[in-house]
Amino acid sequence: MKIDISDQDQKRFEFDERLRPEEFPQVDEMSGKPGEGGLRVKGLLRRLPNKMFELTFKLEGPIIYPCARCLDPVEIEASYDFDDSVESENPEEFDLTPYIEDCLFINEPTKVLCSEDCKGLCANCGANLNHETCSCDDEAPIDPRMEALKSLL
Ligand SMILES: [Zn+2]
Ligand SMILES: [Zn+2]
Repeated sequence: MKIDISDQDQKRFEFDERLRPEEFPQVDEMSGKPGEGGLRVKGLLRRLPNKMFELTFKLEGPIIYPCARCLDPVEIEASYDFDDSVESENPEEFDLTPYIEDCLFINEPTKVLCSEDCKGLCANCGANLNHETCSCDDEAPIDPRMEALKSLL
């Protein structure tokens, strides 16, 4: 997502764009996925001396995160703010994309639950206990791979 900044006399660049789902950053460390319709990116880029800019924007829209217990997708309505001084080496256009990625990454919630009383996954067989009951009993030996996964949740 680029902003034309080639007019050196222009000091303020307002933008109100839509980040489509296919433009959503594919970053490994990020678990969020875009919801339908994408995100709205609305803000202002203000020219400062020496190739510097003040960038402020708000990201709004649905983002889907995995539930921290059962990994089911949970859609939340995101509203994230960004405000920072940034540098642009390119005098013709300013690329917003890395700052949108930063904003998404910084604001990623640490724990999203599909519901407060989510039952999570069976530690033995991995069944989603919200949707099914499994036949494991508590005495059953625990699969070490599931135990490792459980310690991450
Ligand atoms: Zn859940
Ligand atoms: Zn089970």
